Amino acid sequence: MGLLDFSPALMSASAATLAVIYMYLYKLKPKKPLNPSYDYIVIGAGSAGCVVAARLSEDPTKTVLLLEAGQEADDHRISVPDASPTLQQSDVDWNYQVLGGCSSVNAMIYMRGHKADYDSWEKLGAVGWGWDDVLPYFLKSENNTIPNQVSSPYHGAGGPLTVTERPYTCDMSLQFV
Ligand SMILES: Cc1cc2nc3c(=O)[nH]c(=O)nc-3n(C[C@H](O)[C@H](O)[C@H](O)COP(=O)(O)OP(=O)(O)OC[C@H]3O[C@@H](n4cnc5c(N)ncnc54)[C@H](O)[C@@H]3O)c2cc1C
Repeated sequence: MGLLDFSPALMSASAATLAVIYMYLYKLKPKKPLNPSYDYIVIGAGSAGCVVAARLSEDPTKTVLLLEAGQEADDHRISVPDASPTLQQSDVDWNYQVLGGCSSVNAMIYMRGHKADYDSWEKLGAVGWGWDDVLPYFLKSENNTIPNQVSSPYHGAGGPLTVTERPYTCDMSLQFV
């Protein structure tokens, strides 16, 4: 399974045309002038789109345009996990459209699907999406800093996605969970 095998968000349309439509619809100004064309255009700067665009732009010979329909992720509540419920129905929650997509409005809980889910997808015909296929990518993406998980065969270190324990746990949450 390659990084780009699953990227329906990648389009090869004219960057200039898309950019004009984007700016017309959303009345946003790009921060720097757009190129007349790009090697890759990624539609949607959500969780997946940002990763795909970041990986593609690691090649300095390629140009990448990442288009996002939502607004800037500058609401201070976006960086506060416990504040995520207050973002529902807010300005950044226009069908979850904001820079970062659902990763900007979610609860910042590191969560994977169950092994059986991936294996059942594969049985249904999604070749390359079984648990044994996706686990190496989970490991590669993860920078797990939790002491009793660092050496686990199910967790990785050194990837771009840092996973930590919450720095503070209140007594009430222990009762709740
Ligand atoms: C309230 C909530 C809490 C959650 N909590 C957790 C959690 O704690 N842990 C966890 O692991 N997962 C959580 N999730 C799920 C997780 O956040 C999502 O599964 C994941 O972020 C989806 O990523 P994505 O890239 O598929 O889509 P998105 O992140 O939604 O990205 C899609 C992007 O495309 C943009 N877009 C849409 N249409 C266009 C267009 N026409 N042109 C340009 N851009 C467009 C959107 O604005 C958006 O930015 C939560 C989700 C929600 C909604």
